Amino acid sequence: MAKAVGIDLGTTNSVISVMEGGRPEVIVNAEGARTTPSVVAYKGDERLVGQIARRQAALNPGATLFEVKRFIGRRWDEVREEANRSPFKVKEGPGGSVRIEVNGQDLAPEQVSAEVLRKMVADASAKLGTSIKDVVITVPAYFDNSQREATRQAGEIAGLNVLRVINEPTAAALAYGLERKGNETILVFDLGGGTFDVTILELGDGVFEVKSTSGDTHLGGADFDQRVVDWLAGEFQKEHNFDLRKDKQALQRLIEASEKAKIDLSSASETTISLPFITFDPETRTPMHLERTLTRAKFEELTADLLRRVREPVQRALDDAKLTASGIDEVILVGGSTRIPAVKRIVQDIIGKTPNESVNPDEAVALGAAVQAGIIQGDSSLGDIVLVDVTPLTMGVEVKGGMIAPMITRNTTVPAKKTEIYTTAENNQPGVEINVLQGERPMASDNKSLGRFKLEGIPPMPAGRPQIEVTFDIDANGILNVSAREKTSGKEASIRIENTTTLDRGDVDRMVQEAEQNAAADKQRREKVEKRNNLDSLRVQALGQIEENASAPQDAKDKLKAAADEAEEAVRSDDDAQIAGAQKRLEEELRTFMTANQAGQEGGQPQAGAQGQPKADDDVIDADFKPAE
Ligand code: ADP
Ligand code: MG
Repeated sequence: MAKAVGIDLGTTNSVISVMEGGRPEVIVNAEGARTTPSVVAYKGDERLVGQIARRQAALNPGATLFEVKRFIGRRWDEVREEANRSPFKVKEGPGGSVRIEVNGQDLAPEQVSAEVLRKMVADASAKLGTSIKDVVITVPAYFDNSQREATRQAGEIAGLNVLRVINEPTAAALAYGLERKGNETILVFDLGGGTFDVTILELGDGVFEVKSTSGDTHLGGADFDQRVVDWLAGEFQKEHNFDLRKDKQALQRLIEASEKAKIDLSSASETTISLPFITFDPETRTPMHLERTLTRAKFEELTADLLRRVREPVQRALDDAKLTASGIDEVILVGGSTRIPAVKRIVQDIIGKTPNESVNPDEAVALGAAVQAGIIQGDSSLGDIVLVDVTPLTMGVEVKGGMIAPMITRNTTVPAKKTEIYTTAENNQPGVEINVLQGERPMASDNKSLGRFKLEGIPPMPAGRPQIEVTFDIDANGILNVSAREKTSGKEASIRIENTTTLDRGDVDRMVQEAEQNAAADKQRREKVEKRNNLDSLRVQALGQIEENASAPQDAKDKLKAAADEAEEAVRSDDDAQIAGAQKRLEEELRTFMTANQAGQEGGQPQAGAQGQPKADDDVIDADFKPAE
């Protein structure tokens, strides 16, 4: 059986890992990196994913998509404000959903995330030498139902079989706790690029039990960057009366420089932000430059309110777990933003303990996801690990008067199932519409509607007589299924979901197809480049042979040189048939030449690369795919 992998599909960075000999290991990507930026760029009809996409962002701001996880499974009215800050175009889609417009095409956030997943899995498949299909994907614990569902669909669109969607802090706890013996209560504090999660777990004897979880899906490192962006732009505006945020390219450079400054300030107490030629004076058309020094103290002042915002979720998690800070044995820091000194300070301040830094904040989540994949696949090296997770938010239905009637309250262990009986409010009511809600507020309208369910075909009865049995069923992924049945009549009625922001079956199928076609086109393009590169390196090798064997007969050298010249011409022509012909001829000539000259030299074996199947073909391709610096 092919191994299942664990993927931390992050807002900013993604990481993939697999169980190797009883331990989870990160799998490096094709670029040799352990983390892959969750960035997708569209360039013509080509898609660039990861570092290569990130690097060209400033040159291609409208079609370089990053932090798309902020939009996945969300409604337009929830993200409108963030959308407006984005250098690419985010807009309202069908049914109040979110779409990203790139080169005149509307993309669902799921499709963009699918591109990241596809690259991660393709690279990992190549590294492991086996085709990977089964994955466990992590989501912030505080993700609601539609965000989870949308993440799972992203996996489907990428052609994957999503075994499970698990909570990021729970995964981090798995990675941390794998080698710990004894009982302890831990608090996982995960502050990444776009989201904040806090989870309290009890560990002991292979049981990982989540006690409570809380968080803020709108708080992360990017918000800290934004504060620096606003400060820089504000200062610039004061001086030049020009708002840099209105210029897409300038904005992208500001964002990058601000993030870099923030990262610098995690180790330095002061940093200089220098952006020459940031824009042109609209009147005089002379170039304008930006240069500013930012101190750590000023940065902490700019972000003070963001820092304060982590307190409440931590307190809520403690309350829900019926604990006080002193009941926490260890605090585990996860996520790149926990490297900010002020963040560490505030954690220490709230819990009164020095955070434990034994896990790598960038990798713990993916490692834990691989452990979970191993558990699901029955990896015997893991022993008996039991994972008990909870649902982060209350789910219920809207009842008369616009109130929410909770069905499953937050921090209930999942999977969970609950049935309640409802009835009609009017005589001879033929059907009911049940609004399924998620959230903690008492009024229905203040919570998120996950969908509306219609139960139709109720036989005529006086008000209050029908027995409408509504069942909420949360699976191990934290994803909800709802069913309803009218009991008095014994008649099962149909149920349908309307108005959710997640994609419907038809959309998903179409996107799967599109993604596959795109992947096939990308593959073809890659192969074409690969063939051209192979021929080119073979040509270089041939010239090297001629040089090394200067004493060889002139006509042999001439023949090889002619084949090399023909290869050069073919590479330039970019014509498939010509490339194939030249490759064949050059291979033959090179082999003949080398055989004839073998007697004269040591190690005259044709190299692996000479057979048209260069061993290091990946390197050749990568070199050609890199954007000009
Ligand atoms: P995600 O889980 O959202 O993908 P990560 O855990 O990879 O995010 O964290 C990414 C965030 O961490 C980014 O906002 C990045 O700027 C920030 N970050 C990374 N390293 C540092 C650092 N040394 N100091 C401050 N912030 C950092
Ligand atoms: Mg993360």
